[in-house]
Amino acid sequence: MTESKTDVLVAIVGAGPGGLLLAAYLQKHLAPSLVPHVKVYETNYVRDTKSHGGSLDLHQDTGLYALKSVGLLNKFQEKKRDGGEEMRVIDAVSGGLLLKHEGNGHRPEIDRQDLRDILIDSLHPDTINFAHHLMSSESSPTGKSWTLTFRVRSFIKKTITAQILIGADGAWSRIRALLTPEKPIYSGVTFVDIQIPTSKLEEHPEIEQFVGRGIAFILSGNGRGLIPQRNGSGILRIYAALRVPEMWWDDNCPDDEEVTGKPQIKAWFEGFNPKVLALLDAADYQTVAYRKIYALPPDLTWSRPPIPVEGKGGIVVLLGDSAHVMSPFAGEGVNLALRDALELGKTLSAILTRSMDCSAVTDSMTPTLSENTSRYLNEGIAAYESLMFRRAKQAGVESAENIDICFDPDSPRTFVEKMRTLLPPDRLSFATVRWFGRTIWSEGWKWAEREGWW
Ligand SMILES: Cc1cc2nc3c(=O)[nH]c(=O)nc-3n(C[C@H](O)[C@H](O)[C@H](O)COP(=O)(O)OP(=O)(O)OC[C@H]3O[C@@H](n4cnc5c(N)ncnc54)[C@H](O)[C@@H]3O)c2cc1C
Repeated sequence: MTESKTDVLVAIVGAGPGGLLLAAYLQKHLAPSLVPHVKVYETNYVRDTKSHGGSLDLHQDTGLYALKSVGLLNKFQEKKRDGGEEMRVIDAVSGGLLLKHEGNGHRPEIDRQDLRDILIDSLHPDTINFAHHLMSSESSPTGKSWTLTFRVRSFIKKTITAQILIGADGAWSRIRALLTPEKPIYSGVTFVDIQIPTSKLEEHPEIEQFVGRGIAFILSGNGRGLIPQRNGSGILRIYAALRVPEMWWDDNCPDDEEVTGKPQIKAWFEGFNPKVLALLDAADYQTVAYRKIYALPPDLTWSRPPIPVEGKGGIVVLLGDSAHVMSPFAGEGVNLALRDALELGKTLSAILTRSMDCSAVTDSMTPTLSENTSRYLNEGIAAYESLMFRRAKQAGVESAENIDICFDPDSPRTFVEKMRTLLPPDRLSFATVRWFGRTIWSEGWKWAEREGWW
């Protein structure tokens, strides 16, 4: 076990969309002499060893706005998926199409891996330190910086001193504990992530006709649903969603996914229409993964300690999921992470560039923050946080409501009604209008019967 030591000005822990966008912003907008002193540390070994999940839709005033600020909108346009915006709601029991929304170009989709690649490629090659798993973050002996200990490639321990520590390390952030004791709470829903390979989709064109080219919510009202989502690689990813206790998966996961996976997973969706179960028949059970969905309380805030505080370490700030992880049912998580990164990038670059003597900074010597700069940073970050808390609260409440709507006994009716309030009326398909027409007709009929009209 070897131990090495490095000093950095800004340590961003986590190379998810949020951490990467912040690094890209600082690289573009910070005084050039400060740029080599900004580093990213990521636990994953190399950029593409792990599946990073499915497709993400980026929104105009958050995700797309943030990409534009770092000059990556053109790269995004090259990689975005046409047709990915389509959304359907399907009744799992009857197999009937209840709502179809074609999309209006305002929420283009991109695969998570493509978004990550665009951001990584935009950075100087030595910015990201892969295979660095943060184990602890403690105040340094001076009390003015953080001592970060990483496990590097399983057996080497590395220590870094950082004056500004950014927690971009996702839902299970280790850095969050420096600001709040809160931990994510299980949302009540577990996703089992399975995939239909492209070859199977070519053999069964009826699958695409049924679920469309974007995302579909196939809901039942018994706490179960399938959420198929087309990905850029051509596969169809299915989130088989179950409202179950937190430890349910541990007791019910298939012993051998390839052999027992299909019958076992199909049994959880008994009573679903054969057209829906055909998706599970076509899936490949070698790739089963589960994701329990967790969220922090939407109204979570914390107060910022005044700077400098003896023995309390340097500046620390969170962004994205580490600050406000929420369920994916509002489709806002990645958008908020990107917007946070943009706003934090603006704050840091403006204060650091203006309040430091950047002309005296060299590549080989890490600049030191003065007390004034630390104080300005702390004030700027407090302002950033108050807006971040507001954005996150709104989206967190929305995502918690949407989970209930998707899985309550009145689903999919309640979900369709909610979508109807969100989508412009001219975007509602004939299928929706017909479904509402039928509902009104049958309810009217029942009312007339009750009233003794016939
Ligand atoms: C199943 C699912 C579907 C989703 N679908 C959508 C969607 O459709 N739309 C949407 O907007 N959002 C969606 N989300 C949410 C979205 O993925 C997140 O909100 C977003 O990725 C947050 O970005 P981030 O950069 O804050 O964190 P993350 O993307 O989680 O990145 C954190 C990074 O930190 C690294 N890391 C963690 N711990 C350490 C450590 N100790 N040391 C070093 N590195 C570490 C991780 O490896 C990771 O690379 C979904 C989430 C899930 C689980």
